[in-house]
Amino acid sequence: MTFRQKHLLGIEPLHPEEIRTILDLADTYVDLNRSPTKHSDALAGMTQINMFFENSTRTQASFELAGKRLGADVMNMAMQASSIKKGETLIDTALTLNAMHPDLLVVRHPHSGAVDLLSQKVNCAVLNAGDGRHEHPTQALLDALTIRRAKGRLHRLNIAICGDIAHSRVARSNILLLHKMENRIRLVGPPTLMPSGISHFGVEVYDDMREGLKDVDVVMMLRLQKERMDGGFIPSEREYYHRYGLDAEKLAYAKDDAIVMHPGPMNRGVEIDGEIADDINRSVIQEQVEMGVAVRMAAMDLLARNLRDAGDKGVWV
Ligand code: ASP
Repeated sequence: MTFRQKHLLGIEPLHPEEIRTILDLADTYVDLNRSPTKHSDALAGMTQINMFFENSTRTQASFELAGKRLGADVMNMAMQASSIKKGETLIDTALTLNAMHPDLLVVRHPHSGAVDLLSQKVNCAVLNAGDGRHEHPTQALLDALTIRRAKGRLHRLNIAICGDIAHSRVARSNILLLHKMENRIRLVGPPTLMPSGISHFGVEVYDDMREGLKDVDVVMMLRLQKERMDGGFIPSEREYYHRYGLDAEKLAYAKDDAIVMHPGPMNRGVEIDGEIADDINRSVIQEQVEMGVAVRMAAMDLLARNLRDAGDKGVWV
């Protein structure tokens, strides 16, 4: 088993072998989560604090459940109500929490790089639950696990990531992971929603959905991130749906057994047709949510093992 990380800040620093280690362990947690007892003591005696400076439904619930199923003491900080509102800086808050001896800090923050900065100030393991447009590593890992279980492999697949790439940390983490695992990645969307310097990512870019989806194995749709836009990116939601919304007609260009994914929350009728999203023969959106809990259990378990090992050797600072 190879996993040498002290934190999980992004996909970028991970070696493919470390990605496989997380996914293999997550497979065992899927089985545990489907059993009547759903409990292990991998994190027994440990304290996990969730700090979400941005709204979250799925990710926060998933991390909370993951920690509880592994026997940790889990605390959710209500960041909206905390001292942050009174002007305390991120670092001061982190140092205050650090003094309470948490073992795992799960952090979501609207600014890219904020979680990394925080990880340098505390002496526990930090997990990035999404920082600005930068990374959302557990989302990419849960997507990878979903793909691997549905397709039987995680290499040499044709994968289309569609829609609002520019504002999406989900897209960025997925591109990094799927590239490391040697897949062929297509980015499909309007030029206004493509990040600059995209050619460095080793991807093919399409602005036509039908061309972009032709013969792909996986169709990954992204939410149109209106909160990160300041106007002018799309003519109208209706026009966007017409050109880039995933409906049965456009999906027919993909392989017959292509799976449909979406990280949530969905804008039905904007980037995806509700019927496609609910079609259990094509959509794996509910599986993604299930895999999310297992992947977060695996990631926290592995980080906790490294934390204990480092503690035993006296090298953890
Ligand atoms: N839930 C994902 C994120 O936090 C995707 C999204 O919000 O569209 O980035």
